[in-house]
Amino acid sequence: MAMTEPRLTLHPATAPRRLPPNGKHFFIWTIGCQMNEADSAKVAAMLLEVGYRPTEQEDDADIIVLNSCVVRQAAEDKVSGKLNYLARLKREKPEMPLVLTGCMVTNQQEKLRERFPHVDLFFDPSDFDRLQEVVPELADLEDDLIQLPHYYLPEAAGDASIAAYVPIIYGCNFLCSYCIVPYRRGKETSRPMNDIVREVAELIDKGVRDVTLLGQTVNAYGHDLPEDAGLAELLSAVDGLGGLDRLRFLTSHPKYMSDQIIDAMADLPSVCEHMNLPVQAGDNEVLRRMRRTYTTDLWLDRLAYTRKRMPTATVATDIIVGFPGETDAQFQNTLDLLKEAQCDKVHVAMYSPRPGTLSARWEDDIPHEEKQRRHQAVEKQQEAICTARNANHLGSTLEVLVDSKAKGRWGGRSRGNQLVHFEDDRDLLGQLVDVKITKSSPWYLMGEAIGAPR
Ligand code: SAM
Ligand code: SF4
Repeated sequence: MAMTEPRLTLHPATAPRRLPPNGKHFFIWTIGCQMNEADSAKVAAMLLEVGYRPTEQEDDADIIVLNSCVVRQAAEDKVSGKLNYLARLKREKPEMPLVLTGCMVTNQQEKLRERFPHVDLFFDPSDFDRLQEVVPELADLEDDLIQLPHYYLPEAAGDASIAAYVPIIYGCNFLCSYCIVPYRRGKETSRPMNDIVREVAELIDKGVRDVTLLGQTVNAYGHDLPEDAGLAELLSAVDGLGGLDRLRFLTSHPKYMSDQIIDAMADLPSVCEHMNLPVQAGDNEVLRRMRRTYTTDLWLDRLAYTRKRMPTATVATDIIVGFPGETDAQFQNTLDLLKEAQCDKVHVAMYSPRPGTLSARWEDDIPHEEKQRRHQAVEKQQEAICTARNANHLGSTLEVLVDSKAKGRWGGRSRGNQLVHFEDDRDLLGQLVDVKITKSSPWYLMGEAIGAPR
């Protein structure tokens, strides 16, 4: 799942509010994946219910909640930095609860209490009931908490909430040797299909046009449910609601990327022709030591079937460079695989040993400078691939869902998740606009709106 920059999370109204504003404000800071964004949204929804309102200034807050990530050391360092920075504010306002949640917390509460004594409450990801310990008003809500939506409405430039994230499966049953997620997020737990469909129907009612279903292994959805239904059935049920323009899902695991799911993508009108399928390495020996449970051939085969069914499909993947023992030749295999695969987006990360994982017991033997060199080599090659792939769109028309305006230009995403900019005097926020592509770069496309917005 792609990492996002630390950002303030503000959320528009979710469920009907129970209590009027109480004059208090909350500040939520979120780092990490979209799952964390979704958890922060739930915290925001709970605090809104009992009368709190969001603030963008931590100095004005009556409660601060930090939602942490430990997938890589760099993320963990940012959380520690933020916690240390907030010690001053906490000294000035000792009555203000400071709360830490997210993957940094699971099984670490004692150690964290010693390191950060100024934090009032640590709670595990999604263990929302614990918030009552610092916000007693939530106790009255307890039975209703379960009713609060799980979805996340990212901020839009105006009033409209155009896109939303909906978690559908929590946790992960894989044990990739480098990854801390299973230790912090537990076993896979799918949400009941009816709950998800009901939530998406609610979002459609609110005017949301683009929904992304979330999970660490989103395409494993349903195997733990009593009913015999998986992601393909869920996509079909959500598409069947009607009224949704775009449906996406991330992140998929190659092993579970069945023909049935790809067929559902191809056949259901709302499901976007965009696949997020991390491969992590292009060498089978490295994949074996990563415990990824597939070979490069399987990943290529899944891409080939996707493109056979949807010739215009775009593909994103994740790569880790500098995994312990990765030789020059093995790294070259990653570059060769990426050249063959011609992805539209590659998220590349330098290997970061995570205490408690299997690979952390192995020597982190690739020097930092070499990891950086490999990182740059992937990015450089990918820049050339994206330059050529994006140039293929020149003269074509892409449907863009407009979600921002900056420097006088509208911005939005195509169905394939490409960033598209264009200039237009009309108010187009939240509209679907056909854009004829006139300029391309490795990172975005530019064009002119044609026809009426929808
Ligand atoms: N479940 C998804 C999958 O199987 O590909 C990915 C989830 S993981 C939280 C998000 C990304 O972080 C991974 O795709 C991987 O590239 C990266 N990542 C995870 N652990 C890492 C580590 N120890 N060092 C560097 N990158 C890591
Ligand atoms: Fe981590 Fe692997 Fe699970 Fe993805 S599939 S969350 S990389 S253990």
